[in-house]
Amino acid sequence: MDFGTMDSQTERALGAYLGLAVGDALGATVEFMTASEIATTHRVHRDIVGGGWLHLKPGQVTDDTQMSLALGRAMIAWGGWSTRAAADAFLKWMLSMPIDIGHTCRRGIRRYMLDGSLCAHPSDDEAGNGAAMRNLPVVIATLHDPVALEQRSLEQVHITHHHPLSDAATVALAHMTRRLILGDSIEACRKIADDLVARHPQFRYAPWPGLTSGYIVDTVQTVLDAVFTSSSVEDAIVRAVNRGGDADTIGALAGQLAGARYGARLIPARWLRRLDPGVFHAIRGQVPALLALSSQRAT
Ligand code: MN
Ligand code: MN
Repeated sequence: MDFGTMDSQTERALGAYLGLAVGDALGATVEFMTASEIATTHRVHRDIVGGGWLHLKPGQVTDDTQMSLALGRAMIAWGGWSTRAAADAFLKWMLSMPIDIGHTCRRGIRRYMLDGSLCAHPSDDEAGNGAAMRNLPVVIATLHDPVALEQRSLEQVHITHHHPLSDAATVALAHMTRRLILGDSIEACRKIADDLVARHPQFRYAPWPGLTSGYIVDTVQTVLDAVFTSSSVEDAIVRAVNRGGDADTIGALAGQLAGARYGARLIPARWLRRLDPGVFHAIRGQVPALLALSSQRAT
């Protein structure tokens, strides 16, 4: 895969975004399967072949990547941050009849459609991963402004999700991704994860507790275990998705972190060649535009 010349920070931001998309496309095939069902069917699932419960074409992505692209597109068109522009982008996406949409996302976007409010009511019981999975464009556009990173992450999260564990996980994943894109070590990333665990012990991820649902705690534990115990983008994503459950979202978030760590050039070329070309080009276009928003802000 030829990425031409680009600085290493751009390559890591692109790695995060393409990692998210290939993790989604690979994981969607085995979403809602158990690890043993995956092992029986695929031995190890490591090629983007489509299928799954959504009957995807090879390389097709799902809501995780689509909502990220919708958010990124809105930020670039707006030329900065507007929570309403983000909500409008999610609404437009929902009305486009996407291939899948999570329950909490649908409910939150419907609320916005009906009353125009930008913040979901706080929820005690629902803490899905649907807001954390789409936050990468905010991270890339606030690389040099960690205060804005937290504020805007929470604003986009609250359009559909409003739970302390979803908030905490989204912000922690944002800081981890940011540090990796800036070129910091995986140890800096681990420290952020350990701070998350210190504040919310539910997130303890080592030893891996073994759950893989769309509950943000299960998702984050599986993502962190995959990323911290692997030594390549491929290894991290393969490890993540083969555990099944919410495999596309877990694969997407593992791909986001591992892609930020290793950069776009170290994502397996066979995956990038399979990825939906429209998605590939949209991501290649968004990354420099989002980075430009970030440096605009710093100066
Ligand atoms: Mn999905
Ligand atoms: Mn999913």
